[in-house]
Amino acid sequence: MMKDCIFCKIIARVIPGHIVYEDEHVLAFLDISQATEGHTLIIPKIHRNDIFEMESSAMEQVFSVVPKIARALKETYGCSGINIVSNNGKSAGQTVLHYHVHLIPRYGDDKFGIRFVNNMEDYDAEKLTALKDKVKKNMQ
Ligand code: 5GP
Ligand code: ZN
Repeated sequence: MMKDCIFCKIIARVIPGHIVYEDEHVLAFLDISQATEGHTLIIPKIHRNDIFEMESSAMEQVFSVVPKIARALKETYGCSGINIVSNNGKSAGQTVLHYHVHLIPRYGDDKFGIRFVNNMEDYDAEKLTALKDKVKKNMQ
């Protein structure tokens, strides 16, 4: 447990959380902001700041419960879709430094906005090949 981590405190029941699922390795609880109704966070019980610190085993544990929780949210709240989002690093909008996955139920008429910018005009096949070759060198 990390002393100043709000999510570690929820795991340890030092502060309250509205917990919807728990097992040996994973906790899921309602996000206090409720971006849409049912907005849920899934976290590993071990403290990891972000994706860059996550080992595959912890990631498997977190993602292995995503379908179960997604189906429960759909069944419970009648959402027609769900966005699964994880912000990592300040520039990506991460505000709590304990790795987490957002499940954001979508209702068609909700106000949640997530849209990707399309820059494909700036990238030809040659440029994409160079980008691909560079990152492959760092893959381990
Ligand atoms: P991030 O911006 O790091 O991707 O997401 C952090 C999320 O944690 C935010 O959506 C925020 O509403 C949520 N959050 C922050 N503090 C608390 C808290 O004390 N309890 C709960 N349940 N959620 C929190
Ligand atoms: Zn933590």
